[in-house]
Amino acid sequence: MTPAFEALQKELKRLPGVGFRSAERMAIYLLLEKPEAAERLSEAILRARECVRSCSVCGNVCEDELCSICADSRREESGSLCVVEHVSDLMAIEKSGAYRGRYHVLHGKLSPINGVGPENLNLDGLAKRIEEEGVGELILALPNDVEGEATCHYLTELVESDKVEVSRIGFGLPSGASVLYADSGTLKSALDARKRY
Ligand SMILES: [Zn+2]
Repeated sequence: MTPAFEALQKELKRLPGVGFRSAERMAIYLLLEKPEAAERLSEAILRARECVRSCSVCGNVCEDELCSICADSRREESGSLCVVEHVSDLMAIEKSGAYRGRYHVLHGKLSPINGVGPENLNLDGLAKRIEEEGVGELILALPNDVEGEATCHYLTELVESDKVEVSRIGFGLPSGASVLYADSGTLKSALDARKRY
């Protein structure tokens, strides 16, 4: 291995879900097997970095001020707001077709042990959104683990309103599972079987 190869492999390994072996395989592919793919990948990353941003309302990925979901007024009619950990969770729920309301992406979950507090999450404006958008139901589609549980408790206290029903998806997701890795059917049953929290 060379220093430049190792540097690339190290950066690839930093990506979510990529282990040492996968990073090594990707580096070999990009540098030796398909160098033209490396050109395309670096161009795509630079182009996306220039125009892709976080939606100023919900935190979803977008290229304008608002994402396509926030810009769609029909989404507001459902009166529900679904809170997710990552944009990839939002995308998985959208793909399932089980939910047609709006979202709020936290970009993380509370984890005191890892130094993640409320100030590190996209919580600014959530309470205001609930008030201004006339949200009647807050659906917590957060991971079924200790941090997800802590985040749900925090959000329930944040809302503190008789006008808003807080529910959490649960049924269908195994313990420790993330919304991201569930198939469409599991996600649909989890959403259908949500319980008042
Ligand atoms: Zn948005």
